Amino acid sequence: MWHENIDHANVINRTKTTMRQTLLRLPTRNSVWAFRASRPAQIASTRRSFASEASPSPEVYDVVVVGGGPVGLTLAASLGAARTTSHLKVALIEGMDLAPIRNWSPKPDYFANRIVSLIPSTVRLLKEIGAWKHIQQNRVQSYDGMQVWDGMTGARVEFDWNKLWGGKDEQTDTTIAHMVENIHLSHGLLKAIGDLAVQPTMIDKTKVERIQYGEMTGQLDMRDWPVVTLSTGQQLAARLLIGADGGNSPVRTFAGIESRGWDYDRHSMVATFKIEDDSAFPKFAYQRFLPSGPVAILPLPGNFANLAWSTTPEKVTHLKSLAPEDFVAMVNAAFRLSYTDIDYLHNLKSGVVEETKWRESVTQHPDPPQIPVRITEVLDGTRASFPLKMRHADKYIAERIALVGDAAHTIHPMAGQGLNSGIGDVYSLVKSLAEGIRHGQDVGSSFTLEPFQSERYLPNNALLGFVDKLHTLYGFESGPLVPLRSLGVEIINRDWFGLKRFLMSQAAKS
Ligand SMILES: Cc1cc2nc3c(=O)[nH]c(=O)nc-3n(C[C@H](O)[C@H](O)[C@H](O)COP(=O)(O)OP(=O)(O)OC[C@H]3O[C@@H](n4cnc5c(N)ncnc54)[C@H](O)[C@@H]3O)c2cc1C
Repeated sequence: MWHENIDHANVINRTKTTMRQTLLRLPTRNSVWAFRASRPAQIASTRRSFASEASPSPEVYDVVVVGGGPVGLTLAASLGAARTTSHLKVALIEGMDLAPIRNWSPKPDYFANRIVSLIPSTVRLLKEIGAWKHIQQNRVQSYDGMQVWDGMTGARVEFDWNKLWGGKDEQTDTTIAHMVENIHLSHGLLKAIGDLAVQPTMIDKTKVERIQYGEMTGQLDMRDWPVVTLSTGQQLAARLLIGADGGNSPVRTFAGIESRGWDYDRHSMVATFKIEDDSAFPKFAYQRFLPSGPVAILPLPGNFANLAWSTTPEKVTHLKSLAPEDFVAMVNAAFRLSYTDIDYLHNLKSGVVEETKWRESVTQHPDPPQIPVRITEVLDGTRASFPLKMRHADKYIAERIALVGDAAHTIHPMAGQGLNSGIGDVYSLVKSLAEGIRHGQDVGSSFTLEPFQSERYLPNNALLGFVDKLHTLYGFESGPLVPLRSLGVEIINRDWFGLKRFLMSQAAKS
């Protein structure tokens, strides 16, 4: 994918010409320059809170990426790995210290609480940019099956590649997703960046404090170039400024791009567990939809598993306050007891172990593998929670600006697609930049960026909408929608109209 069959030297020469033209503001065959002559006044009016005085001599970069989260790191690694973009002068700025991630070495018998499920298309990209080879495969858990059910009616859909497609073959990746610790993924990405022939400038422990447009300095007209000022005082001018800077994106604010959506009044509680021996069962992911939000157990290697329980902030506070054994009992109950029982247990400050024992003994529930095996222990210090929201930027690009990952869209984690779609953005953006460079265009021009936006906006919008509707639909405890949603689940589960296969194949390549 990245190693396009093109005349590399020619591309570099053409690009150098374009860069010179850009720096000197000579007219190019690209009509964008005629349009740009009248822009400074318009630019001044779009300045946002990140605007202030410009310095006369910022360091000039082709691409400045703000944000060294997983999406920003994937972008830096991808730009360096793709032949056509590998010569670009790139800087990445991250507010946090990247050293602990770079030097990360896993503790035996321990998995972190932040785990991400990576779909096959994401893993393919990570392989192509040289990051996957740095991921220790004994710390990755793939799964081919998923059990999803309605906590009120019990209506169930079982996604099992092997049953649907009759097992794996060499050609088809039948894995639904691969579970990897977030820190492990970022570590692999930093290693891949370290392997690049042309290194990007990596600036960490440094915040972007201001962004403003540049000035006319000598022969160089940077009046429409974003210039970022760092907490160190250093200034960087960018032909293209990319916001990979998360949900509160300063780059998006600077560009004046609105981001719309809402907070869910739900938090996602995460934790890592030891579980009973599950070797008799396939490694599945489990998700039960409760009216307060879905509770999911995701598989990890060996006898470990990870929790993602979306529920109200009050219930999360309660879950965090419980003694470890009561918390464990509560999570086991969440897959076995009725919603009324679970609600009742949320009022207990202690004694959950005894209470669940009795309630489970008088409740009918399926056995593994329809539900997860019991968890036995929560790993110390792994209980944490994150507020959930849905946001979508009105657009992903402006002149000399692009947004990727959570800066462009933030999604409820129930479908495990936030990072996957961010990495999908990266793939599309780098493809658009390579195409623009091949046609002698400026990497920051909207001509270059437009294909990226066209390719990504609607699929991301559809995904955000679908997940948001699921959240609403499963929020009902009673009423006509409850039997209707169960009917829908039944139709999917029977694979009528090939719906189940369709959903599974879409999820694998989002
Ligand atoms: C509980 C939970 C479970 C999830 N599970 C999954 C899953 O299974 N699969 C999946 O695909 N997704 C999942 N997601 C979503 C996924 O975590 C996010 O989509 C992903 O982390 C977004 O990455 P990002 O790099 O775009 O943003 P971030 O991770 O937010 O990174 C942004 C970076 O920008 C930096 N930054 C911000 N402002 C500045 C500044 N001014 N100067 C310098 N640096 C700055 C920040 O320090 C940060 O490092 C989950 C999310 C949650 C909450």
